[in-house]
Amino acid sequence: MNAAPQSRAAAKIRLATVWLDGCSGCHMSLLDIDERLAELARKVDLVWGPLVDAKEFPKNVDVTLVEGAVSSDEDLHRIRLVRSRTRLLVSLGDCAITGNVPAMRNAFGVDAVLRRAYLENASLDPQIPREAVPRLLPTARPVHEVVKVDVFVPGCPPPADLIFRVLSELLEGRVPNPAAKFG
Ligand code: SF4
Repeated sequence: MNAAPQSRAAAKIRLATVWLDGCSGCHMSLLDIDERLAELARKVDLVWGPLVDAKEFPKNVDVTLVEGAVSSDEDLHRIRLVRSRTRLLVSLGDCAITGNVPAMRNAFGVDAVLRRAYLENASLDPQIPREAVPRLLPTARPVHEVVKVDVFVPGCPPPADLIFRVLSELLEGRVPNPAAKFG
């Protein structure tokens, strides 16, 4: 396992959050930390995420929280890049950990799912998009089946208190035990 980010007087922890195939609920739960976000803001630099206006995932990220399953070729490319630039990767929520909701399509196959969504259930101009959308992988997969994951934070979504506790541990230079029960 990678070493936990060390407490540094001069430098803040570089934190990123990534949204793959998820509903944004895990990010909403992160924001539910509420006033404790100000406490975190004193200790971290948020260098990437849905609320950050950056074009490319940065290098030398200390901790990245990943929401969602790996469902498309774009997700696959992104998570590999994120892993290569992150010291501690955290699977945030059940979609990242088990596939959860996105993986419900796995039993049917990509063609059947696209037909159902874009032809059978479309009342206006039914057509399957072939351009400008990421290509679906044959199955939606948990993040750890694709890249190494260091910490797992379960829940759909994980409770805000649990996310805060895990982040607090990481910021103190401790890696939470994935098997430990939080919350
Ligand atoms: S784990 Fe639940 S809340 Fe999080 S992205 Fe998946 S469905 Fe949404």
